[in-house]
Amino acid sequence: MEGSGGEALVAAVASTAAPKSPWGKVGVGAAAPCSLADVMSEELAQELSRADTGTQDEALSLEFLAVEGAVPGPVGDTESDVLLAKLLQMEFDREHDALLRREQDKLNRDSKVSISFENYRMSHPYEDSDSSEEEVDWQDTQHDPYRAAKPQPFPRCGFTGRGKSMTTKHDEALCGRKNTARMEHFPPEFCSGDGIQMDLKLSNQVFNVLKQHSQAEQRRSARLHEKKEHSTSDQAMDARTRLLLYKMVNAGVLESISGCISTGKESVVFHAAGGRMENKEVPSECAVKVFKTTLNEFKNRDKYIKDDYRFKDRFSKLNPRKVIRMWAEKEMHNLARMRAVGIRCPEVVLLKKHVLVMSFLGEGQVPAPKLKEARLSSAQLSLAYEQVVQMMLTLFHGCNLVHADLSEYNLLWHRGEVWLIDVSQSVEPTHPHGLEFLYRDCRNVSQFFRKAGVPEALDEQDLFNLVSGLSIAAKGEAEFLAEVEQQEKMHEGHAHGLRRKGVAVNPAAVASLAQ
Ligand code: ADP
Ligand code: MG
Repeated sequence: MEGSGGEALVAAVASTAAPKSPWGKVGVGAAAPCSLADVMSEELAQELSRADTGTQDEALSLEFLAVEGAVPGPVGDTESDVLLAKLLQMEFDREHDALLRREQDKLNRDSKVSISFENYRMSHPYEDSDSSEEEVDWQDTQHDPYRAAKPQPFPRCGFTGRGKSMTTKHDEALCGRKNTARMEHFPPEFCSGDGIQMDLKLSNQVFNVLKQHSQAEQRRSARLHEKKEHSTSDQAMDARTRLLLYKMVNAGVLESISGCISTGKESVVFHAAGGRMENKEVPSECAVKVFKTTLNEFKNRDKYIKDDYRFKDRFSKLNPRKVIRMWAEKEMHNLARMRAVGIRCPEVVLLKKHVLVMSFLGEGQVPAPKLKEARLSSAQLSLAYEQVVQMMLTLFHGCNLVHADLSEYNLLWHRGEVWLIDVSQSVEPTHPHGLEFLYRDCRNVSQFFRKAGVPEALDEQDLFNLVSGLSIAAKGEAEFLAEVEQQEKMHEGHAHGLRRKGVAVNPAAVASLAQ
């Protein structure tokens, strides 16, 4: 570039010294000692100016000068010379690029391999948006000179040429190029790289792997989108849930929904101001528990519901979304049972699909603290322990239920007493794992109160025996649990027989029978 560019520069500068210069007044009579005009040949400049008068270059350059307001300064100012030189350089570069393009087109016309001269183009800083028509063509995607030519379709016979110059449709390079071209059909979000300019040839094997991957990615992103649309995520609810809540407010059951109390793995709990219902009194403060409709967490909890004989028959026939509604339903039934025997727990107001509205434990929108967080005196802790054990006994013998997730996180300290929440996973003691769940509950309770320094707190095994009415003597945990499982089997068989005969199962009676 520099060589020929230099000549153009020479011409440009020379022209500034010519009396009849095509550049108008530029440099007329300029005699400044340091002007570039001085070091240029005047004769040559004149000759060039005569030859070039009226050319396209001139018009363009004059236009450029007019636009830029680059009228030369006082005599002796060399700025205009530099400007003109640059201007001509730009023209020269354009011509050079056009020549390159023609050359490249000519070479690529009959060749299988396309060559790009992109790297030899002159990029000029003065090339601005005011591009000529020629440049518009240059950017025209249909005639993009840098785009690899699409492989021509093969004749039906499957080969071209004869003898040694025969090429079959299985030709490796040909197939490779075809595969590269086919990458265009991959989804736009699939990054296939910019191999077009390098005459990339993809082997069938590589292409197939890429294709499979692109399809898998497409399916995955579709699934993600679907999940986002239909799930109740941590922060935001899905459209169905919003609609349900909106309907509740619209019907006046809830006055307003104020804020989120908790986002757990399986549910999101909101505080709401109670409204009114025709046949029921609605508490002034309500808790709205929205069971999450993302299915992952609940999959791990299937065992709580599919082995519960109350839900067993329905479970197998339901799709996963409906199973989640069953969790809400299960919580409602369990809360109702508990309230019926006087266990302190929220009162159910309304159940709509996977949304359960219940009374709020707490005051002024502040939820009652969990036992884990409550700062209790030792007297309060002793009282709490006593109440929890009493609750476990009533739950087991009065409600025929095992909480199955009992811990300091699901016991709230409200108005100086312990309240029980979160009973969607509670099962009957005759559940195939009912006694194991009870043992786990006993261990959580025992560990919490013992750690908190309640002297009368029993160890888990004694607590288990107390609540269940069994008297398992084994001491080590493994032996104790083995014995518990043994009891479960006996329970299950007996309870199953009774249920078939339509007899209500009294767990205490079953326990005594099992002994
Ligand atoms: P999860 O299954 O997500 O643990 P929970 O029923 O335990 O759901 O509720 C989560 C949290 O929401 C509780 O720890 C408690 O702080 C709050 N919460 C739940 N129900 C009520 C309620 N009726 N009144 C006040 N707070 C509640
Ligand atoms: Mg909980």
